[in-house]
Amino acid sequence: MNPKTQIILDIVKNIGEENELGTLYVEFKNVRCGRARHKTRKITIPNWIFNSCDEYIKWYIIHELTHFIALDKHNYTGHRGIFRRIEKKYLKQYGLIPKYNRAYIKELYDLNGKYICNNIGEVKKEKVSDKTCIAWGQT
Ligand SMILES: [Zn+2]
Repeated sequence: MNPKTQIILDIVKNIGEENELGTLYVEFKNVRCGRARHKTRKITIPNWIFNSCDEYIKWYIIHELTHFIALDKHNYTGHRGIFRRIEKKYLKQYGLIPKYNRAYIKELYDLNGKYICNNIGEVKKEKVSDKTCIAWGQT
């Protein structure tokens, strides 16, 4: 299996079991943005994610899983408050510290405060016009 796919499935399994999220389905598609569909328990991951670094991939799947946890346990659909607390908790478990914009994560750092990547998965801080999707996991 693709090691990046393995990263995603491991996180889905670990966080899913811990939070009793039941059976979750992960599909990889040639789409712009990811999604978490609460009723069908389906997570869509865009194929372009495989061009991103491992840390970005971890963050992406944690974000989607956080939507299930926030909705299942707290009946919350937004990106603030309890959502953000859950997201931060799991990011930290995987060695990642987020810096937030308004609703979304802006940049990702490691536990020592070292910059990893920005919210479109770029390792370097360069301007990119193409993949500007940050609205992942909308439920
Ligand atoms: Zn989201």
